[in-house]
Amino acid sequence: TGMVIVATIALSTMVCNDLVMPVLLRWTWFRLNERGDLTGLLLSIRRGAIIGTLLLSYIYFRYIGESYALVTIGLISFAAAAQFAPAIIGGLVWKGATRKGALAGLALGFAMWLYTLLLPSFALSGWLPASFVDEGLFGLALLKPYELFGLTGFDTLSHALFWSMLANIGGYVAVSLSSRQSAIERIQAALFVDVLKRDGEREGARFWHGTATFEDLYNLVIRFVGRAQVDRAYAAYARHRNINLKKLRDADADLVGFTERLLAGAIGAASARVMVSSVTKGEIVSIDEVMEILDEASHVIEHSQQLEQKSRELQAATTQLRAANERLKELDRLKDDFIATVSHELRTPLTSVRSFGEILYDHPDLDPTERQEYLQIIIKESERLTRLIGELLDLAKMEAGRMDWNLDDIDPRSAIDEAMAITRGLVKERDIALNIDLPEKLRPVHADRDRLIQVIVNLISNAVKFTEADEPRIDVVVEEGPRALTVTVADNGPGIAPEAQEQIFEKFQQVRDSLTDKPQGTGLGLPICRQIVNYFGGRIWVESVPGKGSRFRFTVPYAESAVAAAQ
Ligand code: ADP
Repeated sequence: TGMVIVATIALSTMVCNDLVMPVLLRWTWFRLNERGDLTGLLLSIRRGAIIGTLLLSYIYFRYIGESYALVTIGLISFAAAAQFAPAIIGGLVWKGATRKGALAGLALGFAMWLYTLLLPSFALSGWLPASFVDEGLFGLALLKPYELFGLTGFDTLSHALFWSMLANIGGYVAVSLSSRQSAIERIQAALFVDVLKRDGEREGARFWHGTATFEDLYNLVIRFVGRAQVDRAYAAYARHRNINLKKLRDADADLVGFTERLLAGAIGAASARVMVSSVTKGEIVSIDEVMEILDEASHVIEHSQQLEQKSRELQAATTQLRAANERLKELDRLKDDFIATVSHELRTPLTSVRSFGEILYDHPDLDPTERQEYLQIIIKESERLTRLIGELLDLAKMEAGRMDWNLDDIDPRSAIDEAMAITRGLVKERDIALNIDLPEKLRPVHADRDRLIQVIVNLISNAVKFTEADEPRIDVVVEEGPRALTVTVADNGPGIAPEAQEQIFEKFQQVRDSLTDKPQGTGLGLPICRQIVNYFGGRIWVESVPGKGSRFRFTVPYAESAVAAAQ
């Protein structure tokens, strides 16, 4: 009696959950969703199923009884059920399996089972011609259902199991390997096969997102399960997770899962899923949504890569800014130095002008020669001041790019001649031998005539100023190069130390002699020469061996017409 009760209740539950409920849910005219409390309906279905099962069993007992065929039928059923084994076991352990592979395996396995087990049993009971078993299909010996492809020595069941399993597993593996998994299959394979690898925390987390309130879920469940039972179940659940369900606004995936399981006990897993998904608007995440999520993730990655790139650019910009800042500081320092030097340079002549002026003022009865001498000093210093200020202005203008240039194609010979004429007096005064070596005919150069003369005069007067040799001599040499004219002003003076050769082209740089405290001049001549020559597109430099004199040289590019003519 106990056996009968257990078996009947189990069967009635199966019939209710897996046969009747899914059908009812699918029949739209039945409108299950609109009905209120369904617990009564469920109970009736189960009770009906119990009565039906008992009735059928009784009829079987009365009319078929303990027939020998029962064992055979059972074994044939087991062989059929065994066809599910490869796909089930494979699904649990093999990530590469595909839906197509499983279906192919099942189809082939069942076909084999049908041919080697079910059809022959029909033949034996007389529903098919006996020749099917004895001679095979179409009389082909290879196709005999109990000796398929000539396999003998097995009892019929083992024979059928061998062939069906071979076809099943073979088809499952082969098709799985040759077909591609869809994304959802990959996800499911990972979820099942790796289920033990994932940490406990994520247990219950599902691919679910959407909105359902606890109230929706509760109202759904109490339609199928008694209210008292539902309350008890949710209370236990809330205690376990330590949450207050009343205050919970949206149900999370875990609560949805719990509700589904609760419902599955009453109406079966398949129906429970359908019912739950009818209230949870999000449903289980569709593959499109998974793709969307992946898309979002890749966007995030892209963004962070862009951010990285940006921060790298920022870093580079910062480095550049820092360098520019350093340079500005350096320039600022130079400017301060410059102002200090200029003030100093201006103060020296001013001081002497003022003190000699005061002497003259305080002593009106001064000796005329002395008076003359002081006045001369005042005039000289004033000239020096004027020159200094003039040079400063020039240099400032050139550096700021506000100089008025008068560029033209000019004959260098006339400029050189004029420079020589200007300095002739100076040279004579010091008794210096001035030689000039210049070709008969010179190509025109592109320059500002007055400025070019200024450069040559400056170089010659420097040479005059600094030669202290016994037989001072100055050579001016003019040579024609391929693209530019080179002018050299050489003297046999003291020369310039190598370390000072570049320095002297900077503002206020004078090579100080230990004996004479301060050379005449301003220290602005060479910087101005460099500005001028650079503006013409040439360059200026000095070659010197200390003690053996200096050779100041500069180039001036030819006029374009001259270059064209030369080519
Ligand atoms: P300054 O007006 O003082 O001559 P420059 O810029 O023309 O200024 O010259 C800078 C320094 O270069 C001079 O003070 C001197 O020390 C050095 N110098 C220029 N020309 C010569 C030269 N021909 N021989 C030796 N030293 C020279």
